[in-house]
Amino acid sequence: MLQFSCVVRNADDVALCIRRFREEMPKKYKGLLISIFTVKSDPKKILSLAQKFGKAFPSAVIAGSMTTDVIHNGGVRVNAAVVGFSVFRSSEVRVAAFDNVDTLTEDGKKFCARAKRMKHLAAVGIFATLHAVDIQPFLDRLAPLNDTVVIFGGGANTLENAPACVFTKNEIIEEGLVAILFSGPDLHVHASLNFGWKPLGREFVITKMDGNHVVTEIDHQPAAHIYEQYLGVPKDKHFARDTLAFPVFVRRGNSYVARHTVDCRKDGALLFIADLHEGETIRLSYGDPAGMIEDAKAGYTDMAMFRPEGLLILSCYAHRMFLHGDVKFELAPAREIAPSFGYYTYGEIFRFSENIGIHNMMLLTVGFREGAKPSSPLPVRGEMPTRLKDSLLIVDRLVRFISATTAELDRMARMDRLTQIANRGETESVLKQGITFAQSNAMPLSVIMLDIDDFKKINDTYGHDVGDRVLVETAKVLSAHVRLGDTVGRWGGEEFLMVLLETDEKKAVQIAENIREAIAALHVLPRGKGFTASFGVARLAPRETFDAFYQRVDGALYRAKHNGKNCVCLDE
Ligand code: GH3
Ligand code: MG
Ligand code: MG
Repeated sequence: MLQFSCVVRNADDVALCIRRFREEMPKKYKGLLISIFTVKSDPKKILSLAQKFGKAFPSAVIAGSMTTDVIHNGGVRVNAAVVGFSVFRSSEVRVAAFDNVDTLTEDGKKFCARAKRMKHLAAVGIFATLHAVDIQPFLDRLAPLNDTVVIFGGGANTLENAPACVFTKNEIIEEGLVAILFSGPDLHVHASLNFGWKPLGREFVITKMDGNHVVTEIDHQPAAHIYEQYLGVPKDKHFARDTLAFPVFVRRGNSYVARHTVDCRKDGALLFIADLHEGETIRLSYGDPAGMIEDAKAGYTDMAMFRPEGLLILSCYAHRMFLHGDVKFELAPAREIAPSFGYYTYGEIFRFSENIGIHNMMLLTVGFREGAKPSSPLPVRGEMPTRLKDSLLIVDRLVRFISATTAELDRMARMDRLTQIANRGETESVLKQGITFAQSNAMPLSVIMLDIDDFKKINDTYGHDVGDRVLVETAKVLSAHVRLGDTVGRWGGEEFLMVLLETDEKKAVQIAENIREAIAALHVLPRGKGFTASFGVARLAPRETFDAFYQRVDGALYRAKHNGKNCVCLDE
């Protein structure tokens, strides 16, 4: 495979480009794809550009997209078009356009059937107008394709908010998509994804949606409220751009996926191009400049192992907006790997485990190679900046500050201030999680509940400060008697609750006994006097509810008090 590209800004550039490419074209080849990404938004001009190349290279397949900025050999080019040639020795390239919004499901099914009939299908590329149409029904129909087939793509994008189009040699598509099929007995395609955004602040819950793409309420308030309150972004026509560097993170399983809002309605509802669901937990997120560049470098290192002969780069425009000039650090390592071209997208398409979906905030690189890979791997040095631009350095430090503050607030919200152990809310939530875990894994779980004896008298006799010290010392003793993973919490006043994982009642009683003795041996009161505590112990029964379990351990503690205090009582 051979790949080369050219940046064009005017008719002279186009003529020069055509002449140069004619010289560079090999005599024999099987497939030729000409990709055109352009900042031009006049459909007539775009079609004329595509047709010039179509005339000059009649055997070529042409596909393209409008964009905000183009990428050429590891760098950004502004106010231009990039024309990329992918010349395949033994592979074929075909293109199909779909512009009927009402038949996307049927079209997807047919396209998939056609793709499945192709021998040696290696990849499907998709350029779409994601802001104008939901192509998910089409993407869903591609699921039957063998999972070795790489599926990638991007959404069209324009600077001046003009309708963004995609196109072929003779067709402009304002609502729909262009799909490219890459097949060949010797064709290898590899995709690598980078992200670089980090969650920020607390969690929210999506409480109301209108379909899968419009979030109307978050935490029972108009959705835009989180951007107004936390970031000071007004609900105006700049909303989408203003929030581009702060996408929403959605928790899916153990990881987060990003969603960027494309518009804000007057009523405060937020519009997205990728799916969201009621009840999902979200957080705001921020760009982490150093992390973003570090992630990209890891992606290129992965790509270098694949030894591509040509690279296509599709990057979310947010990366460009966020990194500004420093975006070069994110693109430059491509130069050490292979010739590259690409564009800035509004939505990135790829297969993520089972799903073929639309994502946001990604940097997607797709490598193509025909034939076996050279045995030696390419080392990627990566053009890492020694120092980010000052403005990004400030961002970097501020986001660190916010992360640290959020973590600190989070910790404080779970802690009891006096004793520095878990507070009641945290203890209760740990116990509920523990119950679920123990019951689904058939593991023992026990709790110890204790209450200091005659505490009121301690306060009355020695004063509140001494009472406080008794609580602090008690908490220390409790913490010293549990394993990592167990929880010691202050349940209220002078009552404590301990959650012991994988612990049966015999062991729990023994731990309670040890603690009872350790407390009785403390001499924190004036004149070396001591104090005592009473203990209730219970082991979780199969299928027992939180409330029932709590009642039993509370009952056991009550009996310990009745039996004369300073003792341990087990509920059997
Ligand atoms: P019993 O042996 O039956 O448990 O009697 P008790 O005196 O320990 O229990 P009671 O519930 O009558 O009194 C608990 C006291 O704990 C009353 C309350 O003023 C005091 N208390 C609650 N929280 C704190 C605190 O944070 N610091 C101090 N010093 N005292 C507290
Ligand atoms: Mg008490
Ligand atoms: Mg009490």
